[in-house]
Amino acid sequence: MAASASSSPGDTGDGRPRVCLAVSACLLGEPVRYDGTDKRHGWLLEQLGQVAQLLPVCPEQQAGLGVPRERINLVQVALGQVRVVGQESGRDVTEPLEHFARGWLDSQPPWGLCGAVLKSRSPSCASGDARLFSSGGELLEHTWGLFARRLRQRWPWLPVVDEQQLSRPEACSGFLVRVFLLGRLFAAARGGPQGLARFHAREWLLLAALAPEQMGPLDETAARLGVLGDAEAVEPYRQQVLKIVCEEDQARRHLQAWWMWLENYVADEALQEEAMNLIEAALASAQAPWCAAAQVLEELQQRHFPQLARQSYARPWPPELRLPQPQDSSSRR
Ligand code: SF4
Repeated sequence: MAASASSSPGDTGDGRPRVCLAVSACLLGEPVRYDGTDKRHGWLLEQLGQVAQLLPVCPEQQAGLGVPRERINLVQVALGQVRVVGQESGRDVTEPLEHFARGWLDSQPPWGLCGAVLKSRSPSCASGDARLFSSGGELLEHTWGLFARRLRQRWPWLPVVDEQQLSRPEACSGFLVRVFLLGRLFAAARGGPQGLARFHAREWLLLAALAPEQMGPLDETAARLGVLGDAEAVEPYRQQVLKIVCEEDQARRHLQAWWMWLENYVADEALQEEAMNLIEAALASAQAPWCAAAQVLEELQQRHFPQLARQSYARPWPPELRLPQPQDSSSRR
């Protein structure tokens, strides 16, 4: 089993950066669950795996708990103190799981991972829906699995989904936008200030659609990169983009971004209004804001604004990657 994204993310052979994602190994078809089965997810292997490097990780198996193994639970033993214990034996396995998580996270290169797809409901991997019990066995709440929690603490900006969220266009498209944006950001940063200045120009509309109110400060930092070639602006710029990646998707932010763009580049008010009507209609009819992006941009580009062809807003993830369909998942726990 691969243990780290030690190679550079590289590229896909056509100049696009190849992103690397951590994925729960059982979702990739590895028979590592407590009962020796897997939860193979077809779309991950057949679609995402074609355009991204998928790094399998099974915290329980790699921590030495074995396959098959006793099922484990998260148990709150005191306020703020959660342990992981065997369901039948009550054996405390927190330490090996913590030890593995620390070692695994430490082994990842900086700016190596662009996202994670983790198994829902698992006491190790779940991203918010693992069950937390009291010492007496009462269900207290739903929470993050131990490994997923450590991952989030190490890289709070890392996009994380579970396999159930992948089947929702809104969640899946938002996840893919962020994953591939990070891939382009990390690749651009290797090109220094000028690389990031070019990134900023290409990604402007996409970044504005994520966080329009943060574009003023980001534009200022980008000006230091492009005009002055200021190497000291590289890290502040990267940190500002990482903050933007954490913002929620909202259709109103896309509208605001388009207003900003039109005000900057289009003097004709009638043309501005025509464009906004088209954008509003596309956003209102789409399953998710990002599902409308390509259609909006293509129509505007063809009608009046050929300069939009340079924006990655319309193609935030590789065009050959389609969103999952219901039949893509064999993953039901
Ligand atoms: S959910 Fe996580 S810990 Fe459980 S089998 Fe899958 S990869 Fe391993």
